[in-house]
Amino acid sequence: MKRPESIKALRDSGYQPVTVKQEMRRNLVSLIEKGENLFPGIVGYEKTVLPQIENAMLSGHDFILLGLRGQAKTRILRQLVRFLDEWVPAIEGCEVNDDPLNPICPAC
Ligand SMILES: [Zn+2]
Repeated sequence: MKRPESIKALRDSGYQPVTVKQEMRRNLVSLIEKGENLFPGIVGYEKTVLPQIENAMLSGHDFILLGLRGQAKTRILRQLVRFLDEWVPAIEGCEVNDDPLNPICPAC
């Protein structure tokens, strides 16, 4: 896949910036439609914790994982990156990687 190399090419590609929650929700829905295991390697929480995390992501809620040591909190959090897009457009040299279509830093 060829990535846009200019702002005009990015606009022409139809790219629409979305929030992280919207991005996670979209990718979660896609994985659910494909029938994939959403949290591979997480065992024992299929009926308790994982459905609640799915509901939180579908609803766009914030959530906090509470639990004792060794209850897979970090493991679950590390797997949340799979619900993010593989790449996001950024202007080369930008220190904060802000939205190229709506930059906030003076350099962009
Ligand atoms: Zn910038």
